[in-house]
Amino acid sequence: MKEFKAESKRLLELMINSIYTNKEIFLRELISNASDSLDKRKFLSLTNDKATTDFEIIISLDKTARTLTIRDSGIGMDEKDLEENLSTIAKSGTLAFKKKLQEDNKKDGKSDENNSGLIGQFGVGFYSAFMVAKKIEVISKKFGTKETFLWTSHGVDGYEIAPVATSSKINSMLLDKSGGIAIVLTLHEDDDDFRYSQFLNEDTIEELIKKYSDYIRYPIRFEQELAVEVEIIKEDIGTDDSADTKSKTSASKKGAKTPKTSKTRELKTLNSMIPIWKKPKSKVKDEELNSFYMSEFGDLNPPLKHIFASLEGTVSYSTLLFIPSRFSDEFMRGEKISYGLKLYSEGVLVMEKCSDVLPEYLSFVKGLVDSSDLPLNISREILQHTKHLKLISRSLEKKILDEFKKTLENNREQYEKIFNEFGTALKFGTYEHFGIRKDNLKDLLLFNSSNSDNLTSLKEYIERAGVSQEYIYYAVGENAEKIKKSVHCAAVLERGYEVLFLHDKIDEFVMKVLMEYGEKKFLPVTSPDAVELSNDEKDELMKEEDTAKELLTFVKTHLKGKVFDVRLSTKILDHATSLTSEGEITIEMEKVLGAVPAPNPMMKAPKAKKILLINPNHSVFSKMQQALKDDHSTLKNYADLLLSLAMLGVGLPVDGTELSELVQKTI
Ligand code: ADP
Repeated sequence: MKEFKAESKRLLELMINSIYTNKEIFLRELISNASDSLDKRKFLSLTNDKATTDFEIIISLDKTARTLTIRDSGIGMDEKDLEENLSTIAKSGTLAFKKKLQEDNKKDGKSDENNSGLIGQFGVGFYSAFMVAKKIEVISKKFGTKETFLWTSHGVDGYEIAPVATSSKINSMLLDKSGGIAIVLTLHEDDDDFRYSQFLNEDTIEELIKKYSDYIRYPIRFEQELAVEVEIIKEDIGTDDSADTKSKTSASKKGAKTPKTSKTRELKTLNSMIPIWKKPKSKVKDEELNSFYMSEFGDLNPPLKHIFASLEGTVSYSTLLFIPSRFSDEFMRGEKISYGLKLYSEGVLVMEKCSDVLPEYLSFVKGLVDSSDLPLNISREILQHTKHLKLISRSLEKKILDEFKKTLENNREQYEKIFNEFGTALKFGTYEHFGIRKDNLKDLLLFNSSNSDNLTSLKEYIERAGVSQEYIYYAVGENAEKIKKSVHCAAVLERGYEVLFLHDKIDEFVMKVLMEYGEKKFLPVTSPDAVELSNDEKDELMKEEDTAKELLTFVKTHLKGKVFDVRLSTKILDHATSLTSEGEITIEMEKVLGAVPAPNPMMKAPKAKKILLINPNHSVFSKMQQALKDDHSTLKNYADLLLSLAMLGVGLPVDGTELSELVQKTI
C-alpha cells in the first residue's frame, strides 16, 4: 500500500467528511473526465485508424454489491498516469485548493462548513467520488500500451496499483481492450444523514445524466447489472473480503453469467448528445448552461453571465462564453496562467486552451468556439497563423464588449457584479498598447465618485456635470474616505465639483490614456488648474508671492533635490502645507511605479516633480518670515518639517525618527 501525499490526504479527508450537499456532482465529474478522455482518443483517431472505437461511456449498477461502474473507451492511463493523475495532486485548481487549506489551517476555528464553501471554489474532479464511495477501483489501460493496471483505494489510508495480466478476466471490464478505463465505486452504507443507495437507482442516474451531462457528445449508456465483473476483480486480485458475504452471494447467484454474454445486453442511451452550443438557444435553459459551465470549467459557482451566439458570414462559428463569478485564484496570486477558449471543429475538440482567440485582457472569459472553418487536424503552430482564427478573435471580442454594453444598459446590478470582479482587466485593456482599444472600452468603465456611493460611468458623470464644467476631476488614493479628506480633493469638492475617486493602481494610467471624455479633459485635483481663484484672490496671492520671494527661494535652495519648486497656495483649505506635482508623473504614479520591481536594478523608478505648497494664511507662514530675518537654522527646520508633513499628507513614506526629532526641535 502506498500513501497519498500529505496534501492529497488532506483533500481526501475533506471530501470524505464533506457535508457538501451536492454529493451527486461526483457523477458529473467522472462523466466529464470520461468525455475528455474520449475527446483525446477521437483526436488521435484522426491520424491513427487503430484509435477508432465505439466512443462511448457505459454506466452499470449492482444494488447488492452496492457498486456503480463507469466505463469509457477513451485514451486510458498507464501506471505512471495513475500515479500522477489519481494519486498526487497535480492539477492547478486542486493545488490552489491545497494552498487555501494551508492558509486556513493556520487560522483557528475552521469548521466543516467553511470547508464545504471551499470545495465550491475549486474544481473537484476525480476525488469527489470519495464523497459517495468507500472504495474506488480503477481498471485502466492506456491506448497504445500493453498492460492493464488496477488502482484501488479505500480513501485516506492510501492506494495500491497492481498490473493485471492481459489474459486476466479483469480485462473484460474494459469496453475496448485497446484502451480506456472502468471505475468501480463501492458506495457507503446509508446513514441518518445521507441515502447513498439513491445512486443505485436507474431513474436517479438517468435524472442526473439529463441534469448535468445531457450535452456530452458521446453516448452515455445504461447497463442493468454488473455483478459478474465486480466479482472478477475479487477473484483475480485475491482481495476478496470473506466478511463481505453479501456480494459473494449475489455473485454466486449470477455465477453462470460470463463477461462475454454481457456484451449482448441491451443498452439504453441516457443523453441527447447534442452539444449544448448546437441546440437552439430557446431550448436551452439557464440551469443547463450553468451546469455545463460548472462541470466543463471546474467551478462549483454558476457563472455571472453567459454569452451564447452563432455567426454566419466571412467566418462562421458557434460560441458559448461564460463570465465566471470570480477571478481564478492563480490570477489573484499574480501567477501567469494559461488562458484561452476550447476550440472545436465540427464538434471535435482540437485544442483545450486556445489563447489566440481572445485578447489577453479578456483572459477571464471561459468557454468554447466551434467553427467548421477551422481545419480538423492541425498543429498549434499552423493554427496560430490561420486567418480564420484572427477573424474569430476580432468577432468574439466585439461580441463580448457588445454584451457588456447591453448588460450595463439593461441590467446594471449584474454589470456592476461583473465590473467589481473584472473591472481591472477592462481597465488594463483600455490602457495597454497605448490605448488602442480605449474607444471601445471607455463606456464600460465605472468609478466611485463624490456624487454618491454608487458607481458611475463617465457618461453619467458628464450628464451631471453639464456643459459649463471644463474638466472631469479625479483624485487618487487608497479609498474614498481617505481621498475625500485629502486637501486637494476637499478644495475641489468645496467648489461644488464632482470628483472621481480612483483607488485602483491602474486608474491614473487609464486617465492618461483616455485624456478626455465628451470633450472634457481629465484633471487631477492636485493640478494647479483644479481650483480657480477669483480675481481678488489672485491679486492677493500675487502680492503675497512678491513679499515672500526671498522666503520661497531660501526654502527651495534648502530643499534642493527633494522638491522641484516651492510656492504659495491658498487652495489647500486651512492646511499649512501640501505637495503637488508638475509634468507627466504625478505623486500617485510615483508611488505605483516605485512599488513595481524595476526590470534592471540600475534603473530608477521615475519620480514626480514635486512642488511644496505653503499656505500664506497659516500662522506658520509668518513664523517662517520671522525666522528668515533672525534665525536661519530654525527656518531650515520649518522647511524640513513642512516637507515631511506634506509628504505624510499625500501618503509618501517619511522617516518617523527624523520627523520626531524635527518636531521636537521646532515646537
Ligand atoms: P481534472 O479532470 O480536472 O484534470 P481530475 O482529478 O478529475 O482532474 O482528474 C485528474 C486527471 O486524471 C485528469 O486530468 C486525467 O488526466 C486523468 N483522468 C481522470 N479520469 C480519466 C479517464 N476517465 N480517462 C483517462 N484519464 C482520466
